[in-house]
Amino acid sequence: MSSDSDRPVIGVLALQGDVREHLAALTEQGARAVTVRRPEELADVDGLVLPGGESTTMVKLAARFGLLEPLRAAVHDGLPAYGSCAGMILLADRLLDAPADQETIGGLDVTVRRNAFGRQVDSFESDLAFESLPGGPVHAVFIRAPWVEEAGEQVVVLGRVVGGAADGRIVAVRQGNLVATSFHPELTGDRRVHALFVDIVRRHLAEQAGADAGNERGVP
Ligand code: GLN
Repeated sequence: MSSDSDRPVIGVLALQGDVREHLAALTEQGARAVTVRRPEELADVDGLVLPGGESTTMVKLAARFGLLEPLRAAVHDGLPAYGSCAGMILLADRLLDAPADQETIGGLDVTVRRNAFGRQVDSFESDLAFESLPGGPVHAVFIRAPWVEEAGEQVVVLGRVVGGAADGRIVAVRQGNLVATSFHPELTGDRRVHALFVDIVRRHLAEQAGADAGNERGVP
């Protein structure tokens, strides 16, 4: 790992989807944002964003580029990751309304339903109650979005839909160093979700640096 915790290197999986918007949002939050397309590029990042797009396409491309197993290993080994929309689907351990053979990276102990708001609902916007983000509700943009149908015990629910037919549905979660949202904060000017993720990456780096220093001193 490369970096000082002030300017962590954060990769954006750049196989398909809204990569540029995430790169810009991460850069605004003080990260060095880079694209990740090849397995060896994963070794250089302190955190990873899985963008919105089409999860079936992304996972097929990841498999074709030899990235799927390295991504699973990296997430399993604790690499902080944030998935928005299709990225949430990629991080889920279990899927509903997906092709039977759709693989995921996994790591989040959640069941995610694809296109959960109805196939006819292409996109909509809504204000969300979002735990742990200061500054009031988050104005969320949903595009053929999934939701979290079920969350395991280790999963912290960060955000839910307020009002309407989907009232109370879970649309933002965190489990350790993994964060996922059904919506696309990269498409609005609100940078609080990216700020939260960059903060998680910084803390993770600082913890690793502490652990390394401990090892050098022979502390078990
Ligand atoms: N419906 C898409 C999928 O299943 C996700 C949509 C999005 O990322 N905006 O992959």
